[in-house]
Amino acid sequence: MSLKNKIAVVTGGAKGIGRAVALRFAVEGADVTIVDLDLENACKTSEEIQAIGRKSLALQVDVSQGAEVRRMMQEIGKAFPPVDILVNNAGISGKACPVVDMEEAEWDRVLSIDLRSIFLCSKATLPSMTENGGGAIVNVASIAGKEGNPNMAAYSAAKAGVIGFTKALAKEVVGQGVRVNCVTPAVVQTTILEELTPEQIEYMVQRIPLGRTGRPEEVAAVICFLASDEASFVTG
Ligand code: NAD
Repeated sequence: MSLKNKIAVVTGGAKGIGRAVALRFAVEGADVTIVDLDLENACKTSEEIQAIGRKSLALQVDVSQGAEVRRMMQEIGKAFPPVDILVNNAGISGKACPVVDMEEAEWDRVLSIDLRSIFLCSKATLPSMTENGGGAIVNVASIAGKEGNPNMAAYSAAKAGVIGFTKALAKEVVGQGVRVNCVTPAVVQTTILEELTPEQIEYMVQRIPLGRTGRPEEVAAVICFLASDEASFVTG
């Protein structure tokens, strides 16, 4: 059990990669709060965690809104000891379209859910982590943030932002015992792909050397490693 008795928060844990992370964390011995807009599925993940034998709380939160994130930390503070692990996973792809056709509102929606939320949740959680002597933050970026996917400019820019934020914050809090890392998955089979066209998905899958999409559990394994003390020499 690499996360025995750790207290974890997973945003976007109602389904997809976040759900796989939350369940893997529970198997590894952590108590996990599921934070998501989708309360019904967040509760289902929470019940699955309890069935594994760990404590869990499901909270309906829009992680792009500061007031909601602060309320989230108050609720978590009432239910659990200080947080050891935060996984900033909630995200959307946005609608695939060229920059010239992209509405300003759509750009803002993607940037605020995929990038602003990571700043807000990290800012809100760090005092709890440092009070406890340290912790680990794992952000879910994307290969789009390294390569830049055509017709996904907002998503690519947001995810590149997540990578930059991760590196900056890692250096800022290294002296307080907090490690900050991110993962940059290629295409993973989840409902996030429903916003994209089959052509867009095909463009991305063709570039994957393994020639297939990933499974949420395969990303969860890497996130679990980064969140655990096994990754004690990995930050930024
Ligand atoms: P998903 O759609 O299955 O899950 C995303 C979850 O985030 C959903 O439960 C959704 O309700 C929640 N969410 C969305 N906006 C939210 C908000 N404002 N507040 C709180 N919760 C919110 O998608 P997924 O594929 O599991 O994506 C998880 C993360 O992985 C995202 O950050 C995504 O960008 C990233 N990612 C996914 C892929 C992929 O191909 N699936 C590849 C690289 C990176």
